[in-house]
Amino acid sequence: MMLKHFAPTTDPVVSEYVEKIAYRLENALPGTRRIAVVVDQSGEEPPVLPDGTVVISERSILTAQDEAEFAGIVAHAMAHAALKRFSFPVIPLNGFENSPAYAPMKAMQRQVEIDADRRAVRAMIQSGFDPSAFVRYVARTQPDAARLGEMRWELSLWQPREYTQSGEFASIQKRLRAN
Ligand SMILES: [Zn+2]
Repeated sequence: MMLKHFAPTTDPVVSEYVEKIAYRLENALPGTRRIAVVVDQSGEEPPVLPDGTVVISERSILTAQDEAEFAGIVAHAMAHAALKRFSFPVIPLNGFENSPAYAPMKAMQRQVEIDADRRAVRAMIQSGFDPSAFVRYVARTQPDAARLGEMRWELSLWQPREYTQSGEFASIQKRLRAN
């Protein structure tokens, strides 16, 4: 794992905020609240290190439109840690997309994401974060009909309810933009 590229955040207010979100989610995802907050990491997917540390970047706070979307990003990563099923890239390099292993690996990769998505949706509901915000986030950033269909299915299993959000997320975003 290329830890040297992950510079830790220098703002304790930001890391405390991320910890607080993870703390709320931890009841639904026990034993997964080992969080490292970094300035940036490449790609949409927050990595989970082999020891279960979930790496959350400041950039993902800026990518999210509200607290519930950000909670979804954290919940999805914590779900990977809880399920011990980690995201992995399947890169069509050197003609790998023509290999007989490519389609099964793509299918496996998608299933790992679907399992994490559904676990994240359940954890959000149990922790009082609006799960439809995470569906919206995935639809905007990583549109995948199969993933979205499974997330909407998971959502449909649960009683709709009202969710409230704190104003804290906006102030954290403002802080990051000013840094
Ligand atoms: Zn994932």
